[in-house]
This record gives sequence, C-alpha cells and structure tokens, in this order.
Amino acid sequence: MSAIRVIHPNPDVKRGVEYWEGVPSTVDGVLGGFGHVSRADSLGSRSFLLKILPRLSSIPPASYNCSPEEWLEERLERRGGKGKSRTRALDCGAGVGRVSEHSLLPIVDEVHLVEPVEKFLLEAKKLSTQWAPLTTPPSSSPFRARKAAHFHCSTLQDMDPSIPYSSCKGKGKQIEPTLSVSDEEASDEVEEGEGRAAGSKEEPLKFDVVWCQWCLQHLSDKDLIAFLHRSKAALKDEGDEKGLIVVKENVCKEEEDGSEHVWYDDEDHSITRSTKAYERVFKEAGMEIVRCDVQQGLPEELFTVKIFKSLRTIDRFSGVGYWISIPRMFNHAKTRVAVRSISVRKMLRRD
Ligand code: SAH
Repeated sequence: MSAIRVIHPNPDVKRGVEYWEGVPSTVDGVLGGFGHVSRADSLGSRSFLLKILPRLSSIPPASYNCSPEEWLEERLERRGGKGKSRTRALDCGAGVGRVSEHSLLPIVDEVHLVEPVEKFLLEAKKLSTQWAPLTTPPSSSPFRARKAAHFHCSTLQDMDPSIPYSSCKGKGKQIEPTLSVSDEEASDEVEEGEGRAAGSKEEPLKFDVVWCQWCLQHLSDKDLIAFLHRSKAALKDEGDEKGLIVVKENVCKEEEDGSEHVWYDDEDHSITRSTKAYERVFKEAGMEIVRCDVQQGLPEELFTVKIFKSLRTIDRFSGVGYWISIPRMFNHAKTRVAVRSISVRKMLRRD
C-alpha cells in the first residue's frame, strides 16, 4: 500500500440539500429524469433482499415438506400471532418514498423514511396512503401484519437509527405515520395495542434492514463511517434473526493506476466513489461485505454491467454489510445524455 494517503474531495452537505430542495417532488425528479428505471431497480432490490434475508420471505422454501398453510401457521406463531408488526427497515435518503413503496414495504412490516428535504417527505406521506402494502388490510397481508410507514426529516449525519423520533426532532414538521387500513377481522383478533405499528414511538428501535440507496454520495468518509456505526448498533441481533445494512450506490471507475477514485459533482455538491473507495470505507467501519451484485436491467445504451466478487474481510464487530452497485455508464453515453437534459446528469455520473 502507498505510504501517501490520497486526499479525496468531501461533499458539501448543506449545498447538497439545497440542490435537492430545487428538484421536483416526483420519482422522475429524485431519479434525475430516469423515473423509468425505477421498476427494474425495485425488482433487483426485492430479489436481492430476499436472497440475503430469506427469513423475510412469505413463500415457503422448496425444502419445506408440509403444506403452505402449515408453514404460514408456524411462521405466524413465531411472529407472535396475527396483527403483529415484526420486521422493520430504515429507508435512508428516502426522497419521495419510492424505495419504501416498491422495495421495502412489500417485504417488511414497517419502514422508517429519513429524508432531509421536507417537501419530499411530505409528498411521500401524501402518496403513502395509496401505497399497495398500506392499502392492504392485515387480513390479506402475507403475515397478517399491520404495515406502517414513519417519516423523519433529517440528514443521515444528524440522525440515530435506533432513536429516529428523538434524534430527528425539530428538523421539520412532525409527520404522523401512515398505518395500513384496518379491517374488522384483524382488529377483533388483535390484542390491545397490537393494531398499531410495533415500536412506533417506543425507543430504541431495532432494524432487520438499513437500506442506503443513492444518498451516500452526500456523506464524507468520516460521516459515513459514523453513520454505519450507529446503524450497526440499531440492527436486530436475536438468535438467527440478524439485521443487515444494504448499500446500493453508483460507483465510478478507479484511477488509471488501479487506486481508488472519488469524483466531486459541482451540480449537487456530492461525491461519487469508486468500488475500492467504498470497500475501504466499509473496512474502516469494521464491516464485512458478504454479498455484492450489480443491478441488471437498466437501459443498455446508458449503463454497462460490472461484476463484483463477494469479499470477506475480518469483521471486528458483529454486524455485516451487503452491497449492491449501480453499473456505471458507457463512455459513449455521456454525449447522448448531455444533449437530453441537464437533470439527466444526476443519475449518470462521469467515470
Ligand atoms: N433514495 C431515493 C432518493 C434518491 S435521490 C430513491 O432512490 O428514490 C437522493 C436523496 O438523498 C434526495 O432525496 C436527497 O434529498 C437525499 N439527501 C441529500 N443529502 C442527504 C443527506 N445528507 N442525508 C440523507 N439524505 C440526503
């Protein structure tokens, strides 16, 4: 390893948030004009999540040799009965709630969205009353759970995942959680106090998944390492039920000599890290990368596909990290993108 430590640029957190405040509160807005990739993205995310945490699946494994009904009964018993909200995810830099709606809530019972731009969060709250997992009553939900979304206005730098309500207090209007519609059958069977989302305002919370997507570009290495530590402390760790952190981010190419590269974006004052730069940060945070995939199915003319190896490093702490990367774009796509629109640049960063 070189004795000279390369100094990378840091994001400007305040100007980053100001940039997003000027972006429309839509899926197309938060995806820089690439709203149409959302479907492929969430498909990839859900299948990744079920691969890494099969215990969240509502479908019996092929190896199970009793009926699906028996399997469901068994699972319900393990979860403490009907109407229980057992599993929880944190949606980091949630924007207008796209990831919560399509990737997380279809799988977990409860999500907590953290987002510094208040208008995005208010839009997420408004839209959440129409999100399919929240318009499904507990009687029709896979584990008869009453699903819920909670909203917290904050940067990741300022929040502590285990105490989202108190750590995000005062950073925007208090937004009431959205609970899935109730129905007679469930509310009759649910014990007192169980119809609401588990944990809602009780603290501290434990998460099955801390999901970071397209927002870590706004955290310096120091802030990211500190956030990973706080997240790790907020992960569920009960017997075989261990929580995980997922990072799904754009990566740029390494330097020509193979060393890590970090690129500063003048438009939103963020940084794009190369794979090696992320790997170093995870290692410094004491994280182990246990699985690494590349998001497939994004527009071919814009993105190339890069295959990552799974890495195993010594884990000084007990948590583990999972990692998905977003393929960088082909060089030739830059020109095409540049003429399409300025906002398109957001997602398709330079190498
Ligand atoms: N993850 C969402 C939104 C991506 S856009 C999705 O995939 O749909 C990037 C988001 O990061 C914006 O909503 C922006 O407001 C948010 N963001 C900007 N700075 C942040 C910070 N310091 N901490 C957390 N989120 C931040």
